[in-house]
Amino acid sequence: MSKHYDLIAIGGGSGGLSVAERAARYQKRCAVVEVGELGGTCVNVGCVPKKVMWYGAEIAHCLEMAGDYGFSIEHNGFDWGKLVKKREDYISGINSWYHSYLADSEIDEIRGYARFVDAHTLEVGDETYSADHIVIATGGRPVTPDVPGADLGIDSDGFFALQQRPGRVAVVGAGYIAVEVAGVLNALGSEVSLYLRKQQFLRPFDAMLGEGLMEQMIEDGISIFPNTLVGSIEKDDGKITLVCDKGSRTPGIDQVIWAIGRTPNSDDLNLEAAGLATDKHGFVQTDALQNTPVEGIYAVGDITGREQLTPVAIAAARRLADRLFNNQPERRLDYENIPSVIFSHPPIGTVGLTETEARELHGDAVKIYQTRFTSMQYAFTKRRVHTAMKLVTVGAKEKVIGCHILGPGADEMLQGFAVAIRMGACKQDLDDTVAIHPTSAEELVTMR
Ligand code: FAD
Ligand code: NDP
Repeated sequence: MSKHYDLIAIGGGSGGLSVAERAARYQKRCAVVEVGELGGTCVNVGCVPKKVMWYGAEIAHCLEMAGDYGFSIEHNGFDWGKLVKKREDYISGINSWYHSYLADSEIDEIRGYARFVDAHTLEVGDETYSADHIVIATGGRPVTPDVPGADLGIDSDGFFALQQRPGRVAVVGAGYIAVEVAGVLNALGSEVSLYLRKQQFLRPFDAMLGEGLMEQMIEDGISIFPNTLVGSIEKDDGKITLVCDKGSRTPGIDQVIWAIGRTPNSDDLNLEAAGLATDKHGFVQTDALQNTPVEGIYAVGDITGREQLTPVAIAAARRLADRLFNNQPERRLDYENIPSVIFSHPPIGTVGLTETEARELHGDAVKIYQTRFTSMQYAFTKRRVHTAMKLVTVGAKEKVIGCHILGPGADEMLQGFAVAIRMGACKQDLDDTVAIHPTSAEELVTMR
């Protein structure tokens, strides 16, 4: 006989763990099914290892300018393997913590791959489990293009598996992962080329961000090839040759990293048995309350095709549990004004509408405040790091509907401004806020 629960989450990543944890707090009997490591993408092959590598890269940049600040430092190289080992030990600690946390919260951990048997029943290996509520939180995985030799390259999972720093690297892609991985590798000493199929990267973001970052990356030594589609890759004598669609060949590459997007983990869930279908991209669509069209089945996180960010998966999951089990029938995540950071060098923080989106929606009612400067930290250093900031406002009251920052500290700066924007702040509210000096952030409350 199958074991019955109030709620089963399929996937022990950000979304699945959060919905079960919150439901268990309401004394519900819960289980999480996970085929891989607890913590999912974020902990194992996403935010956490990425941020550790980013910190490493930031230290490399600091060492570069130590001399400008009067330090005489003998730099004896960088041990990639040591950093990777420390990173993976740290992640193992998080994995173990999750196991204890689930046990302490009396949430059952079911190991294996879940498939639907019907709308309320799952099979995992030889066992079946049923629940009143099933939450699909299976996330996604990286994609590689359908070109000859694609499997000679690696994806972001492969990047985190690298035990040695690659010498010459070609990163292919134009989104978060492409610019983050290219930046880390460049700072840590690889020779990096970035291949874009279009003119610019980070195209969905405010244009100032992509343009400013591209300038910085080129100054920092990354070779960028716009409008260049990779047609195939070949390997000979341990080295890779990249062949572009226009016929140009680039030999002598040690590693090709595909960073061209992710696809949802929905293909092997046997959704039809539950009466569910996906959209054409494989995403499980939900309404604003995370309901799928089948009663008792919900979806949260990357699998829904909405903003693919950890805090989004967590917030949607917790609110779903509040709604189902804590008598809050309207509780849901507001998907507007979600702040996000790209961990480039320097980082980008962005929330709200881009200038282009705002002008399309509000026309001449839009007023832009913009600034660009070199922060004091880099005033006399050899490596110059640029800061660019933009506030997008609308209407007579100049309500702030977008805030975009490229520069050192942008990652930590944005959170507070996201609160202000969510609360409906106008330009005058920013002007009336006393600046903190000397910082870069003060520019955001003093822009003319
Ligand atoms: P996941 O975390 O992917 O969890 C899904 C889990 O389900 C996985 O553990 C998988 O093994 C399991 N699973 C799948 N199918 C089944 C099945 N049938 N049965 C059992 N288990 C199953 N976001 C940020 O906010 N900030 C960042 O800095 C950031 N950096 C990132 C860097 C990289 C390189 C990547 C790839 C992503 C990054 N993200 C970041 C995105 C973030 O990791 C995801 O948005 C988040 O992990 C989504 O959570 P989820 O619960 O929807 O899915
Ligand atoms: P993205 O969707 O962000 O970007 C991938 C981009 O690569 C596409 O938008 C496209 O841009 C380009 N591309 C697609 N196909 C090809 C191709 N065949 N050849 C060359 N370029 C191609 O995907 P990522 O893999 O970077 O990241 C996945 C998601 O993970 C992100 O959207 C984000 O939500 C999340 N993430 C979040 C991070 C954070 O919060 N800091 C960090 C990392 C990931 P174009 O059309 O311009 O060519």
